[in-house]
Amino acid sequence: MIEPVSASVEPESTFNINRIRRDFPILEREVRGKPLIYFDTAASAQRPLAVIDAVNNFYREHNANVHRGVHTLSQEATDLYEGGRRKLAQFINAPSEREVIFTRGTTESINLVAQSFLRPKLKPGDEILVTHMEHHSNIVPWQILCQQTGALLRVVPINQRGELEMGALQRLLSERVKMLGIVQVSNALGTINPVAEICRMAKHHGVPVLVDGAQAMPHMQVDVQALGCEFFCLSGHKMYGPTGVGALWARESTLDSMPPWQGGGEMIRHVTFEESTWNDLPAKFEAGTPNIAGGVGLGAAVDYLSKLGLPEIAAHENQVLSYATEKLAEIDGLRIIGTARDKASVISFILGDIHPHDLGTIIDHYGVALRTGHHCAMPVMQFFGVPATARVSFGLYNTQQEVDVFVDALLKVREMF
Ligand code: PMP
Repeated sequence: MIEPVSASVEPESTFNINRIRRDFPILEREVRGKPLIYFDTAASAQRPLAVIDAVNNFYREHNANVHRGVHTLSQEATDLYEGGRRKLAQFINAPSEREVIFTRGTTESINLVAQSFLRPKLKPGDEILVTHMEHHSNIVPWQILCQQTGALLRVVPINQRGELEMGALQRLLSERVKMLGIVQVSNALGTINPVAEICRMAKHHGVPVLVDGAQAMPHMQVDVQALGCEFFCLSGHKMYGPTGVGALWARESTLDSMPPWQGGGEMIRHVTFEESTWNDLPAKFEAGTPNIAGGVGLGAAVDYLSKLGLPEIAAHENQVLSYATEKLAEIDGLRIIGTARDKASVISFILGDIHPHDLGTIIDHYGVALRTGHHCAMPVMQFFGVPATARVSFGLYNTQQEVDVFVDALLKVREMF
């Protein structure tokens, strides 16, 4: 069995932030003459050496196509790629690695479920439920599906804190609803939704739940069996792994009942011009050459997160989040958008009349990378009556000292306007 290199990861007894920061080479660089402060992890996390080395080593030592070769390199590549799947399956407590389908990421996973699982079942007048805080990737695939089938998209409202209205959700759940799509952690607000409870509520009405776990994966231990969802979607790049790879989890019986989504090589067992038959799981849903190095790198990211420990990561990030929330709340004219009681690693805000894009551009001169805009959640912006926000989002490598530098920079920006 070939194992990806992971020399840069050592067992951690405590969460040693200085040592952990050294795992991320990019944190050593300067931006505009200032040390980089990377507060854009919700958009894409930085990669530790363990991931970079695993991908690099794959291309240097083992690169070949997977599954179909008898030669040594192809077998090594297959071992490494399938090893990534096995690690991910264990990490999310999937009962079987056959239930983990590699995709391009959360977006592709949701589209797969919409078109393969739900489309054949929908009739005009059926309903699909999403919440007001969804990322566009958990809205638009369902909208397209509604156009294709005559089904209706219904929206679970949120309150002024950016929390779900649970009473309204209860009222909207009915036998007409054929899918509930819900985000576990909102990228625009940071809200953590009580997904396990929501899955229990949905089950009473026989409603399958798709959980968008893109932002949850880097911050909390996910157990897909304990959540009780039908589908779970994730992206590698949000959890310190490569871009262009992610996964869909669903039970084997569910995946077996679904038709293939895309046709091509790998997903077939036998092809004639009259008829083709499908491969076993997970290959049935992985048409064409997959992102092999991506799967290997995602396995390395899982190893890295497991070694640090998600409870330790969450505890550290929560400290940074509370500290930053307190500091920002002290700034005159600063309004935090999203004040849910249960939050993870994201602060969206507006500073006076300063347009977030101006703020982001100026703050870049202080070496701070933050995101401005609608964060692919335009309905959230519409709800709060703002065109855009500035958003800082924290990863396991951020510190309170970085928050101090950022707050000083913000105060200087405010003086300019
Ligand atoms: N859902 C949420 C909550 C996200 O934050 C993102 C990425 N910003 C996505 C879905 C889409 O993920 P991807 O672009 O990796 O498919």
